[in-house]
Amino acid sequence: MYSNPLVPWHEIETVLLDMDGTLLDLYFDSYFWLELIPQKIAAQKGQSVSEAKAFMDTELTRVAGTLQWYCLDYWQALLGLDIMSAKREIQHLIQMRPDTIPFLDALRDSGKDVILVTNAHRGGLSLKVELTALDQHITRLISTHDYGVTKESQALWQALHQDVDFNPQTTLFVDDSIPILHAAKTYGIKHLLCVENPDSKKPNRGVTEFPSIIDYRDEIPFIIK
Ligand SMILES: [Mg+2]
Repeated sequence: MYSNPLVPWHEIETVLLDMDGTLLDLYFDSYFWLELIPQKIAAQKGQSVSEAKAFMDTELTRVAGTLQWYCLDYWQALLGLDIMSAKREIQHLIQMRPDTIPFLDALRDSGKDVILVTNAHRGGLSLKVELTALDQHITRLISTHDYGVTKESQALWQALHQDVDFNPQTTLFVDDSIPILHAAKTYGIKHLLCVENPDSKKPNRGVTEFPSIIDYRDEIPFIIK
């Protein structure tokens, strides 16, 4: 329990939330792209798994920060693999963080607008909503694919601001990606929060550039009016 909140909640009217690594355990995505997909590539090409992992590293780095990185159609075409059925094979790993629902419900109960803004492709978003019922706790779900640009880009923030009524001065944006938090800061979002532990299988990261949360439940007493 913190003695002080990480966020001045009385100033916040709108909360924009990332999904993977912020509300959902990033372990699913890490395992999917860095373990399962290399295994499938290795089997398909007759390579070793370590060769396939090196190939995936190169390909992921090539498109980092762009819409392709997040685009299931791009990977399906590049790899010749059925990406959605591969996701279904390990869908039991799609898990909400244990502190997510209490946090979302406290935000809703305090009357704030709660909007998901994810770079995830609509296909991946649908699967995650189906398995977690995340949509029951959030007013609106936005995939940045609908705008054709990612959160790393200022064009996304401009397009989002045209579409969604929010005041950057009274908005909190929560994301586990430091480059994305910097993009939101550049755009002028005043309140920013990072995630110390996006992947349940990894140690805390020791984030220094932004205030950083370990357990959203520690903020709840400060959220409720
Ligand atoms: Mg994320």
